[in-house]
Amino acid sequence: MIINMKDLAVKDHAVRVSESVDLTDFLSGRQDLTSFGEVNADLTATFAFPTVVVEGTLTIPVTMVCSRCLGDVQDVLRIPFRERFTREAPAPDEEEAEDLHLVSEDEVDLKPYVEEAVWMAIPYIPLCSETCKGLCPDCGTNRNERDCGCRQETIDPRLAGLADFFK
Ligand SMILES: [Zn+2]
Ligand SMILES: [Zn+2]
Repeated sequence: MIINMKDLAVKDHAVRVSESVDLTDFLSGRQDLTSFGEVNADLTATFAFPTVVVEGTLTIPVTMVCSRCLGDVQDVLRIPFRERFTREAPAPDEEEAEDLHLVSEDEVDLKPYVEEAVWMAIPYIPLCSETCKGLCPDCGTNRNERDCGCRQETIDPRLAGLADFFK
């Protein structure tokens, strides 16, 4: 997954980077991923003096754990990707730009940038469904599968005495 800055500047001007990459080494530490496939990068690198803009979409199939019911969440993450690379020191107004990278070699390996984009895109709180009812905090039943019948409403402690009174 390498682009050549010099070739882009002097002859190609734009190249398509369409590649699948195995991120097993990189992602194996993520406890929140049960499994994952290769990331597919569909990117275009375009020379626009003095920078090369690489943009497109990353897709990666993942299985995560629902943060409410602990069930599987299968999803294909579609991740917008945009990074810029330059061989020249950025202009002062560009120095802070997060997507602009000053590189010293002609060849730039996109893999670390792809890895970072995937890492950031993994949902912090995955849900199997927006309406997932989760596990019962009392008995642990998966409330998507059946209603355990436990009482869920919490009684205001100031009214607890009153509730006892009516029993
Ligand atoms: Zn769930
Ligand atoms: Zn219950």
